[in-house]
Amino acid sequence: MQTATLLRKGDLVQVMVGRAKGKSGKVLRVDRKYERVYVEKVNMVKRHLKPSRANPQGGVLEKEAPMRWSNVMPVCPKCAKPVRLRHQVTKEVRQRACGKCGALMAATHNV
Ligand SMILES: [Zn+2]
Repeated sequence: MQTATLLRKGDLVQVMVGRAKGKSGKVLRVDRKYERVYVEKVNMVKRHLKPSRANPQGGVLEKEAPMRWSNVMPVCPKCAKPVRLRHQVTKEVRQRACGKCGALMAATHNV
């Protein structure tokens, strides 16, 4: 079953569940097919690289691993707490708003 999310790239989110619980960061990427988000500097994993022409020594690369988007919540800039978002229609434009205080999130809506 597909679920939707109101999360967008660039949102500040807090991790609610799992290994990175309590951490917060900026959404780097939203993967709508796999229902996952990549959050900056959160849920880092080490990738071991084979030596290649560009990188003859090989080495270890740390990068963000995706998390289920249901495990993170956006942080409202006004409440400064993790909140649920809802849609708010103003002048026929659908915007995202904080479910608690109604503060508008980033204005652009790109699905
Ligand atoms: Zn709020």
